[in-house]
Amino acid sequence: MNVADSRRLASALEGLGYTPTNRAEAADVVVLNTCVVRQSAEDKAYGRLSSLYPLKKRRSGVTIGLMGCLVGKDPAPLRRRFPWVDVFMAPSEPGPLLDFLAERGLVDTGLALETAETSRRYHLQDGDLLLPAQEQGNLVSAYIPIVLGCSHACSYCIIPYRRGPERSRPTEEIVAEAKSLSAQGVQEITLLGQIVDRYGLDFGTGGLALLLRRLHEIEGLQRIRFLTSHPNWMTDELLDAVAELPKVCEHIEVPTQSGDDEVLARMRRGYTAGDYRRLIERIRKRIPNVSIATDIIVGFPGETETQFQHTYDLLADLRLDKAHIARYSPRPQTLALRRFPDDVPLAEKERRRKAIDDLQAQIVGEINEQLLGQTIEVLVEGRRKGRWWGRTRTDRLVFFENGETGAEQNWRGQLVQVHITWAGPWSLIGNSSTQGKSES
Ligand code: SAH
Repeated sequence: MNVADSRRLASALEGLGYTPTNRAEAADVVVLNTCVVRQSAEDKAYGRLSSLYPLKKRRSGVTIGLMGCLVGKDPAPLRRRFPWVDVFMAPSEPGPLLDFLAERGLVDTGLALETAETSRRYHLQDGDLLLPAQEQGNLVSAYIPIVLGCSHACSYCIIPYRRGPERSRPTEEIVAEAKSLSAQGVQEITLLGQIVDRYGLDFGTGGLALLLRRLHEIEGLQRIRFLTSHPNWMTDELLDAVAELPKVCEHIEVPTQSGDDEVLARMRRGYTAGDYRRLIERIRKRIPNVSIATDIIVGFPGETETQFQHTYDLLADLRLDKAHIARYSPRPQTLALRRFPDDVPLAEKERRRKAIDDLQAQIVGEINEQLLGQTIEVLVEGRRKGRWWGRTRTDRLVFFENGETGAEQNWRGQLVQVHITWAGPWSLIGNSSTQGKSES
C-alpha cells in the first residue's frame, strides 16, 4: 500500500515540476511514508524522522512531509511533538503536501507543463496515474489499491484505526488506472486491499471476480495478482475466475494467523482452524498448481505452548508455499491491547517464530526441489548482482543467466522460459532456455 501511495505522490510532485534525488541532503522536499503495523516499524519511522531534523535545522527552506499510518486521521498530537515537520498526510492522501507547495509558490510551472505534455502523450485522463519519469517504460510490476481502509477489526490490528473504514474504489477508475499503467510499459498489476476479496461488497457490483474479468481484457497486461484475502470471503466464483483467466496468476495470499480455535476467536478472525483447512482444500481443488501464502502471528496474548503447537501442526499438514511470520506486538487502540496482557516473553515469541521459520524453510525447500530440471515462465523485473531476476506465476523468485547463445539481451519486462538448475527455499536459479523454446 505504501509503495503505491508513495508512487502516486512522486508522480504528483513531478506534476509540480520536481525531479527525484536519492539523497535527502539534496532534496527540496522530503517525505517519509510510514507503517505502524508493529512497534518495530513505528520505531523505525521515528528514527528516520529524527534523522531529518538536522537537515531541517541547516536548511529551513526544505519541506518535510510525514505521511501514512504514523499520522493516521488526526495529525494534531504529532504536530505538537514535531513542530518542525511542515506537512502531515493521512495514508493514501497526498493532497495536503501538494496544497502546501502550491500555496507557497514552490512549484515550477515550466516543468509542470512538461509533465502535462507527457500525460497527453500517454492519453491519460484526470485521475489516471502517470508514472514517475524514471519508471515510465521501466517498471514491470505495479500495485493498484482497490480497497482502501478496513472495517474488520481483528483484535490485534491497528490498520482500521489508521487507514479508516473500508471503501472500494469505483471499478471504472481501477480499469482506467490499469490501462494507463499498461500504456506506460507495466506488464503485471497486483490489486491491493486489507481484505481484497471483499472488493465491491460495499457497493454491491459483482465483486473481485468480475473486476478480474474486466482487467483481463486489457491487452498489454500479462499478469494480474491480488492480495490480501480473508478466508471468509473467498467465494467459489472468485476461485473459478482465478482458475479460468490465463492472466490471473494461480497464487493466493490468505492469512490464517493462528492454527488454534481459542486464539482465533480472541483474535476476532471469524473462522476456525478447521474452516481454514477446508478452505485450503477447496482452493487446491479449484485452482490446479496453485501456490498459497499465509501470515502467522506467534505469541498472541495467552497463547500456550499447546496452542502454538496447533499452529505448527497446521502448517506442517498444509505445506503452504510461504509464511510471513510476525511476533505479536501490542498496538494502541486495539481490543487486544485493552483486554489481553502481552504475557508471552519476547524470547519465547522468538523461539516460536524461529520454529515456524525453520519448518517453512524445510517445506518450501522440498517443494522447490521438485522444480529442479523444469522449465518455468518468469516475468523479468530487473537485474541484480550480475543476474536477471523475476517471478514465476506462483510468486517464486528466480535468478537466471543468459542461455548458450551468449549474446547479452535486455530481458526486463519479458516473459522468459527459465530452466531451473538450483533450488533453495527462498529462491531458484536457472538459465534462460530460449533455444529450447524455439526448437519445440
Ligand atoms: N489485512 C491483512 C494484512 C494485515 S497487516 C490481513 O488481515 O490478513 C499484515 C500482517 O501483519 C498481518 O497479516 C499480521 O500477520 C501482521 N500483524 C498485524 N498486526 C500485528 C500485530 N499487532 N502484531 C504482530 N503482527 C501483526
